[in-house]
Amino acid sequence: MSGIGEGPLRLVIFGRQGAGKGTQCARLVEEFGVAHISTGDMLRAAVAAETDMGLKAKAVMSSGGLVGDDIMNGIVRDRLDETDANTGGFVLDGFPRTIPQAEALSIILGKRELHAAVNIDVPLEEVTARMKARGREDDTEEGIARRLELYEQETQPVLEWFSARNRLITVDGFSTEDIVWDRLVSAIKAAA
Ligand code: AMP
Repeated sequence: MSGIGEGPLRLVIFGRQGAGKGTQCARLVEEFGVAHISTGDMLRAAVAAETDMGLKAKAVMSSGGLVGDDIMNGIVRDRLDETDANTGGFVLDGFPRTIPQAEALSIILGKRELHAAVNIDVPLEEVTARMKARGREDDTEEGIARRLELYEQETQPVLEWFSARNRLITVDGFSTEDIVWDRLVSAIKAAA
């Protein structure tokens, strides 16, 4: 594990769908021992397990819409209460997506201060091409367009919310995985 100062690393990671967040998160887990908390992965697992929540989320997800804030805040609060996230830190991926979620997160975290909210920035045309190429089940053309549109509408203000609190770091993500990783680590170390 690399030194990043005192205590466990606590990050939020942003990036348009297709920006390479998943890959970079796996490397963050490896390098810093954090828990990767992806709300998209948690919801997909709930859909696969056909839990009540999964059944409710399924239609919203396949249309590219957003699951309600109350459900999401509850999922994240419970997950952040678990031991691994408390002792080893975390990288939160896919949350917050709205201002009410950002506000809920600061209440959930309380004294566990975030080191940074990192935005992996990749141009819109590039992520659209990448998502069409990866062909996941919820990657219908309509779904892709709607999610990217929602990202601009709902998540851009969340980036501004973190920026106004001096927590936002933007990393240029339009490069190879290794170069983006180096930029990411430098940015995190500078912030921590
Ligand atoms: P993702 O893998 O992060 O793109 O998430 C897949 C889908 O899960 C999204 O398109 C949303 O429908 C839903 N989802 C994931 N995270 C959230 C969130 N924080 N708020 C609302 N919906 C979410």
